[in-house]
Amino acid sequence: MRAIRLTAWEQAARLVEVAEPEPGPGEVLVRVAGAGLCHSDLHLMHWRAGSLPYELPFTLGHEVAGTVAALGPGADGIEAGEPVLIYGPWGCGRCRACSVGAEHLCDAGRTARGAGLGRDGGLAEYMVVPSPRLTVPLNGLDPVAAAPLADAGLTPYHAIRRVLPMLRPGTTAIVIGVGGLGHVAVQLVKALSPARVVAVDRREQALEVAARSGADAVLPASGLAPSQLRAAAGGRGAAVVVDCVGSDDTLALAAGAVAPGGQVSVLGLAGGTFPMRFGAVPLETPVIFSNWGTREELAEVVALARAGTVALETERVPLAAVPAAYERLAAGGCRGRLVAVPGDG
Ligand SMILES: [Zn+2]
Ligand SMILES: [Zn+2]
Repeated sequence: MRAIRLTAWEQAARLVEVAEPEPGPGEVLVRVAGAGLCHSDLHLMHWRAGSLPYELPFTLGHEVAGTVAALGPGADGIEAGEPVLIYGPWGCGRCRACSVGAEHLCDAGRTARGAGLGRDGGLAEYMVVPSPRLTVPLNGLDPVAAAPLADAGLTPYHAIRRVLPMLRPGTTAIVIGVGGLGHVAVQLVKALSPARVVAVDRREQALEVAARSGADAVLPASGLAPSQLRAAAGGRGAAVVVDCVGSDDTLALAAGAVAPGGQVSVLGLAGGTFPMRFGAVPLETPVIFSNWGTREELAEVVALARAGTVALETERVPLAAVPAAYERLAAGGCRGRLVAVPGDG
């Protein structure tokens, strides 16, 4: 079968031919319907050897939906033919964090491992999932449209759910970077809270997506000073800033525009440094590097998508066109989420 594999560090992922995988004991074989392309895949391609505890090669793709094709010996609680969304962080399944579904925080040293992250992911015709517990029923959602919910839906939901009590009437939330995650963040704040949303991006078309997603105000990032952003948030600053970029520039904007006692959630992996020093950040303002989410939250994201509360903007690309699509993603030329569809060629 065809797969998009990371075969060497500091190189682009490649389309290669590999053997079709077979599910081992307790495992689930999924025929992939759609797999989202994420900006963090680009970071994976650029990071140096040794930055991550992964062995190469492996297949990328951590936002995956498809149909159960076969069960390994002893796999139970799931049927062949069932449409499922794959929960991406694969923990040990039995430590304290995993036992409450927070496998992204697994205590057993497996943090940051999962589908397409050191283990074969879904940018292929088939993938193996280690356990039925790592699947969520799609309940009628279109699998191609639903695939990005696994990260572009779950990651902002996890970040925003945490701060919902702070998003009271009369407050403002700022979303910086309105790509795959950011446009869902805008939708979630609008749907789940009474807060105003101010969206910031350097790309004109991303600001159009933000407006369509419900942002009350959109601001071009170029030349934007933290004081201007603070003013746009109502003078006192934003109760919550969600930074989906994470560069030096955007973290400085976040620090300068958050309200005293507010919170900054950093979702983007651009690797910038947050200016955490007295005077640079308002008093009593926590900064959280938010990471993915829990199995329970993924089920809630599916429920929100079924209700129409979250609607990802997606563009289909054939598997063969994924290397070129990553280049387009790197150049910032995408609206919403690119989803690879192996069935399209
Ligand atoms: Zn991702
Ligand atoms: Zn664990």
